[in-house]
Amino acid sequence: MSLPAGSTIGIIGGGQLGRMLAMAAARLGYRTVVLEPQPDCPAAQVANRQVTAAYDDPAALAELAEASAVVTYEFENVPVAAAEALAAKVPVYPPARALDVAQDRVTEKTFLNGIGIATADFRAVDNDGELTAALKSFGGSGILKTRRMGYDGKGQRVFRDMQAGGFAGTCEAMGSVPLVLEAFVSFEREVSVIAARGIDGVVAAYDPAENVHRNGILHTSTVPAAIAPRTAEAARTAAVKILSALDYVGVIGVEFFVLADGSLLANEIAPRVHNSGHWTEAACTVSQFEQHIRAVAGLPLGDPRHHSDCVMENLIGDNISRVPELLAEPDLMLHLYGKAAARPGRKMGHFTRINRRA
Ligand code: AMP
Repeated sequence: MSLPAGSTIGIIGGGQLGRMLAMAAARLGYRTVVLEPQPDCPAAQVANRQVTAAYDDPAALAELAEASAVVTYEFENVPVAAAEALAAKVPVYPPARALDVAQDRVTEKTFLNGIGIATADFRAVDNDGELTAALKSFGGSGILKTRRMGYDGKGQRVFRDMQAGGFAGTCEAMGSVPLVLEAFVSFEREVSVIAARGIDGVVAAYDPAENVHRNGILHTSTVPAAIAPRTAEAARTAAVKILSALDYVGVIGVEFFVLADGSLLANEIAPRVHNSGHWTEAACTVSQFEQHIRAVAGLPLGDPRHHSDCVMENLIGDNISRVPELLAEPDLMLHLYGKAAARPGRKMGHFTRINRRA
């Protein structure tokens, strides 16, 4: 059954993704309450209400459950125990299992391989000895990542053509946390698929976007991606397979490496709306944000086809000063997040040029 207009949707996390979800919810007639410790966060500026507390605060979670007809989230590091506690009182979408899978890179890759989706070869690494052995098995090259809490290239170290040995202290320098060494993938390009699954199991996948990163942060997403139709189809099919395997409800982002022969390796699952899907608000009738709200509210999903080719670009840090010139351009949709201070590396907004290729 679909959520009646006027119902309240709870959103855990108050960043720009929560903000855009709250705006999409409002456009469909819903109210929103945001759980976020940071006062006056980007999402709370446009939501009906903020519960200002930690994501795992039991009283705040009880308050959120009380206020909401359904609860969703805008980031993948929501504590699984908090999602499970909430789910005992109110529907929580996407399901807590999606968080569990996405929060640990080893669990994530094991899950993907288990449903027949290829990833980079990987080894769990807990000490310098295991790192030495893992690097040796990958011919001296690889990317060492923290298993948990990594994002935007943070918590990563690249090894290229290293001789065996000499890694004493590496694991300590990475914070003495569980790590994973991934084989280095010489990919031709990176793409991602934004897909959604409704409560009734109906799925919809947007066309893959081609993503370019700078300093580990997404710089541009271009649609269509310069890939063969069968590669695009394989990426959409893999995303849908993940949705079904997780009995998922909501929008998911799946990142892939495209190899020279057109084959794909899945890199990461984001159980939420995703930066590489921001283009959908300018180039599709139903954006990823509306699609997510439709899914969690039990409404029919929207048509994922795009009406325009486009390029989305992030506005990071000082790049916010480009706003006056961007506003002068035709066919450009600007979206700012209401953040006061433009710190280096901070996502301040994004814009999408439609009717463009890279
Ligand atoms: P991640 O945090 O896993 O999304 O990694 C951030 C970026 O690092 C990716 O978008 C790639 O550009 C690069 N990268 C990550 N893993 C690998 C890998 N195994 N081989 C080559 N490049 C990688």
